[in-house]
Amino acid sequence: MKENRELAAKNESISFIEQFIIEDLKEGKNQGRIHTRFPPEPNGYLHIGHAKAICLDFGMAKKYGGKCNLRFDDTNPVKEETEYIDSIKEDIRWLGFDWEDREFYASDYFGKLFEFAIDLIKRGLAYVDDQPADVISAQKGTPIQPGIESPFRNRPVAENLDLFYRMNEGEFEEGSRVLRAKIDMTIPNMHMRDPIIYRILKASHHRTGEVWKVYPMYDFAHGQSDYFEGITHSLCTLEFEVHRPLYDWLIDQLKTSEYRPRQIEFNRLNLTFTMMSKRKLLELVQEGRVNGWDDPRMPTLCGLRRRGYTPESIRRFIDLIGYTKVEAINDISLLEHAVREDLNLKVPRVFGVLDPLKVIIINYPEDKSEDVEILNNPEDESMGRRKVPFSREVFIERDDFMENPPQKFFRLAPGTEVRLKGAYIIKCVSFKKNDKTNIIEEVFCTYDPATKSGEHASGKKVKGTLHWVSAFHAVDAEVRLYDRLFNHEDPAGQKDDDYRKFLNPDSLRILKGCKLEPSLRSAKRLDKFQFQRLGYFCVDFDSTESHPIFNRTVSLKDTWAKMNK
Ligand code: ATP
Ligand code: MG
Repeated sequence: MKENRELAAKNESISFIEQFIIEDLKEGKNQGRIHTRFPPEPNGYLHIGHAKAICLDFGMAKKYGGKCNLRFDDTNPVKEETEYIDSIKEDIRWLGFDWEDREFYASDYFGKLFEFAIDLIKRGLAYVDDQPADVISAQKGTPIQPGIESPFRNRPVAENLDLFYRMNEGEFEEGSRVLRAKIDMTIPNMHMRDPIIYRILKASHHRTGEVWKVYPMYDFAHGQSDYFEGITHSLCTLEFEVHRPLYDWLIDQLKTSEYRPRQIEFNRLNLTFTMMSKRKLLELVQEGRVNGWDDPRMPTLCGLRRRGYTPESIRRFIDLIGYTKVEAINDISLLEHAVREDLNLKVPRVFGVLDPLKVIIINYPEDKSEDVEILNNPEDESMGRRKVPFSREVFIERDDFMENPPQKFFRLAPGTEVRLKGAYIIKCVSFKKNDKTNIIEEVFCTYDPATKSGEHASGKKVKGTLHWVSAFHAVDAEVRLYDRLFNHEDPAGQKDDDYRKFLNPDSLRILKGCKLEPSLRSAKRLDKFQFQRLGYFCVDFDSTESHPIFNRTVSLKDTWAKMNK
């Protein structure tokens, strides 16, 4: 415990949640245990918002020597699928967290929850209501108007028991009866007005099959699952604050000692230019507006992974935004900043030309080629050097040449000189245009052998340095450039407009015939690089040796921030 205090003292930016945890540990609550859980509902893929919860749940347990369970909240048999369970596990591991052997399911507790419901009925604390859902909901009242008691509220215990058992035997239709907790219809907190705790669902459950015909509501399963697992700190998002009195009430009926989980709420992660609703993300997938859950434009963890994000960059971003009690919307530029910062230190710089224009160096021997040596990462010399072949014909970026350049265009133009990075200084002597299209096809240059990088006997200086790829050695590749999926900061938050209206039509641009340096021939899926002057790129899952595909993770600079200035 002393260690914990020291830990806390060292780090000034600890969240209010961590403060609470430290206090609890200090007071010796729960015998000094910390045990958290991450409780996803397996009805979709995890997104960056979930990462915020994961980093907190697993992070706090790790930091204070505790445990974190993975618990699938699988109370709704209709929407849940094993595909989601597998992806959720993969994504949590990828983020760098481990639940060891503690993989649980709310459905593990269906038996216990059923017993608890029976117990509530026997104690006069739950009743079967025969009214349809709309009537029950109309009777709930409003926050300022008390609710109306159901005519079935005072049903005798024996009748309730009999009906509830028969509900579970499949005797009644879905929606014809529910089990409600008997609390108080006048309490201002609407969640306490005799909430529904069990409903009839005649669906097969992915784990319990046909065993149950009644299923607990999320609110009836969640708090008790925490209790059954001995969770000490139940960390969840702000919308559950109003559910807390109900969870407390239920635990009060259940608990046999002083132990109870402590629920602490924090703000959800919202990000600009995207949305976090699993339901809407599923729509994007089902309607084919993106290419699956792992489309690199999706805010899902698998999408971000495929885009080239690292777990470190995501954890760093979560660290930067922190945990508070106020809802906010975070700027996606900060996430992009985090990945740039991480990749800058880690990945090698390479040459890739996305929009190639051929340069012919007329005084370089036709049959010659030579290797020039280039530092892999100036931020980290230990990453070594690599050899890049240079020859008479090289590709440069089309927009690095201009026939009639404006002032201060320090790239290539008729009569000007630039350095080809790591190689020589070249001078443009002429160029060739296509007669019909007027498009520039080739640029002719001379090179100065005395300007070789590293040797550089001439001492000549030029303002511009270009990246390039030897035409003879180039690897042809497809490059996918991604932009924001939506062109509105808050696409899902507009009352009068459907979010689809804000889909960015240019969120994916596919470039073919890009020219990459030959070292990239051996790049494997998810290998990451900085294409010099262009951004960070990674090898896509669909990439093959004969058809390499690279995704742009992020450009080098934040062009959006600039445009919005
Ligand atoms: P739904 O919208 O389908 O109810 P959900 O977003 O609540 O889903 P769950 O699978 O129930 O998704 O979430 C698992 C955990 O992740 C919950 O504890 C939830 O509070 C947390 N979580 C979900 N979305 C976010 C978010 N945007 N920011 C922070 N935490 C989140
Ligand atoms: Mg949920």
